[in-house]
Amino acid sequence: PRMGWMDRLRGGLRKTSASIATVFTGTRIDEALYEELEEALLMADTGVKATERLLTDLKRRVKDTRTTDPAAVKGLLVDALTELLRPLEKPLVIGEFTPTVIMVAGVNGAGKTTSIGKLTRHLAQAGASVLLAAADTFRAAAREQLGVWADRNTVEIISQEGGDPAAVSYDAVTAGRARRKDVVLIDTAGRLPTQLHLMEELRKIKRTIVKAGNAPGAAGMGQPPHEVLLVIDGNTGQNALAQVRAFDDALQLTGLIVTKLDGTAKGGVLAAIAQERPLPVYFIGVGEKLEDLETFSAREFALALLT
Ligand code: GDP
Repeated sequence: PRMGWMDRLRGGLRKTSASIATVFTGTRIDEALYEELEEALLMADTGVKATERLLTDLKRRVKDTRTTDPAAVKGLLVDALTELLRPLEKPLVIGEFTPTVIMVAGVNGAGKTTSIGKLTRHLAQAGASVLLAAADTFRAAAREQLGVWADRNTVEIISQEGGDPAAVSYDAVTAGRARRKDVVLIDTAGRLPTQLHLMEELRKIKRTIVKAGNAPGAAGMGQPPHEVLLVIDGNTGQNALAQVRAFDDALQLTGLIVTKLDGTAKGGVLAAIAQERPLPVYFIGVGEKLEDLETFSAREFALALLT
């Protein structure tokens, strides 16, 4: 039987949890314990600020509960991390607009195409009609891969070899409205042929989507894009955080999908994100298969990371 996703998340984060677990095997709660813990958290790419905040919070909890048992401190750390991660816990809401337009960005290799396939399946299973748009017109492989996901989920796809990404996006919004789709998912490029600037390209796509929402007859669909998601590879730790900053500055992100949490020693990066850019983590990727997409739960994640 397939392992449950929590087991896979746990297995994936084991590299982190193992190094943190040793911190609590001593007999005393002392400075040495906190120092070891600090090191383990930093090693997991939790970042300096989030680590400091967690340690301060943890010490307060230890004091409040008057615990003297190092093993009990672990439970208090789970509580502290859960509280830090709580703002990231938010469901992706669709259904308010017809269609809900979701623009998806992410650097090549982050797992963007795979995540769009997973998200398509998730939405289709929830009964939503989906239109996919391949606005990464530069990369033939990305278009083909998206086509495969579309076939597998029997959803329609708008794709145009070598076309203008902004034009494809505009067409997708218009088609999504005309065909009364619930969701239009727009896949964008993660890298461009040289000379062109990725962020400029993505901003242009976003502006074009806004324009499509202002077209005659588009009233009632609100102001698309309704979501601008960034897919990040959880395995890249602080690098992923740098991507969140850069894409958020350029595109005003509304949420994240964090992939590859089934095999990373850098699971602490979610705490760093919570500290610096507390964007909703709508989904996490916990494997390569289409069904390996889960909603994010702060408590479950904290438990998987620390116990
Ligand atoms: P893109 O370049 O961002 O579109 O990335 P892809 O979707 O092509 O994914 C890059 C690689 O990461 C592929 O081999 C995927 O199978 C793999 N991948 C994507 N998401 C996950 C995940 O959550 N877990 C694991 N283990 N692999 C993933």
